[in-house]
Amino acid sequence: MSIQLDLTTTMPCQNFDSAQGHMTLQDHRVVDVDDNIVKIFGYTTREELLDNIDFVYALVPNHQSLAKKRYLEAIKCKLNKGKVYTDISVNGRNISIFCLSHIIELNGKPALQVTIIDITSVVEDQRKSNETDRMYRKLLSTSKQGILIHRSFRPIMVNQTWVEQQGADSIEQVLAMDSILSIVPEDQRSAAIRRCENILNGNTPNFSSVVANQCFDGTHKYFNLYDNVINWEGEDAIQVILEEVTDKVLLERELLHRAMHDDLTHVFNRRAIYDWFKKPVNQHMEMSCMLIDIDDFKSINDRFGHAVGDTVIIQLADTIKTHVELLGGIVGRWGGEEFIVFIPKAKSAHTKIIGERICHTFSQHTFFGINRRAFTTSVSIGVTNQCVCDSDNTINTLIRMTDDALYRAKAGGKNQVSINDDLVCDEVLA
Ligand code: GH3
Ligand code: MG
Ligand code: MG
Repeated sequence: MSIQLDLTTTMPCQNFDSAQGHMTLQDHRVVDVDDNIVKIFGYTTREELLDNIDFVYALVPNHQSLAKKRYLEAIKCKLNKGKVYTDISVNGRNISIFCLSHIIELNGKPALQVTIIDITSVVEDQRKSNETDRMYRKLLSTSKQGILIHRSFRPIMVNQTWVEQQGADSIEQVLAMDSILSIVPEDQRSAAIRRCENILNGNTPNFSSVVANQCFDGTHKYFNLYDNVINWEGEDAIQVILEEVTDKVLLERELLHRAMHDDLTHVFNRRAIYDWFKKPVNQHMEMSCMLIDIDDFKSINDRFGHAVGDTVIIQLADTIKTHVELLGGIVGRWGGEEFIVFIPKAKSAHTKIIGERICHTFSQHTFFGINRRAFTTSVSIGVTNQCVCDSDNTINTLIRMTDDALYRAKAGGKNQVSINDDLVCDEVLA
């Protein structure tokens, strides 16, 4: 493996505990060495080294031709850089040295004074870190999780899994992007920027977040996102690991929807209505309530069958939604063919008018029964205006009062709206 050490004429600022020695060369021969050179090359005495080494190249057997070339350049004063020689075998282990020479005069002839530093440990450390780096990059590129590393959202490394997860064409396409914020849905971008700033400030979240991405191919997908700061090529960068959870998120949404909605009409079910009331934002808020019940529904079922009865129920739910949802009200299926409506902050007169509109619109709708026989039907509605509900007790009282109004609408001949007097409400709920 080649080692990229930037050792030029000056040594880098490293804290070497290694030996540094000097030797003198003349006519390619070693003429003198100090004790450190003796140690570096594994000899016990100066004499032993000088007896065994005649030409200097014997000290670096695996670099002989390079050493010779450099000797010739140095002696002609053409050399101004040091050189690293690696993997020199000394007593069964490999050493690495840094050599720097300058020309001197010895006995009237040119000679070289060579400084040698044992940099074995530096080279080994560098090799280890290169190996760790190589293994880490391999791990990233083969990971089954999508991994992207970025600085200020400019991508600097991305693996193939990420490219495929996001529906991009290639790694190159992603790395050419100025910012990956473009795949973060617009309403989540400032949160993404804040999250990165927090991480860089040392506040790494110890939980993952589910994020939505608008992928390159236009699809929306959901991911578990784990992010943290890493040192990438000497500088802080953010590593983002993505695990696709689209199926899980959609299933959870579907289950939640089903748990809260009625299968037939898709309006809220009874439990969801109570949950909605318990939300802090709806507590202490003035509410109007409506109960809406189809008139003589049993006879529709009897005459046209259950399936036709179902279409009537669905039509009523749609009619109610059209009139109520624009006002911020919510609709729930309270029983078989009975619906409940709550409208926050609606003025007294308003709710009755809405009730009358529902009554009118629904009675105008033409249904078709067996043999396409046309029929119409109607609803009766009970209304209670403007009550503050801050406990299960007051909610139930409000509903009971509205039920009383509904009963009066039925008793009054059906196809009509009956409203509780505001004063009565105040007394009952006080
Ligand atoms: P009223 O005018 O007094 O309300 O008379 P009604 O015949 O409508 O009486 P009631 O409200 O008691 O009748 C409800 C009927 O609705 C009884 C039940 O068989 C039927 N029902 C309940 N749930 C469903 C459903 O999901 N689909 C259909 N088709 N019928 C249902
Ligand atoms: Mg009915
Ligand atoms: Mg009923």
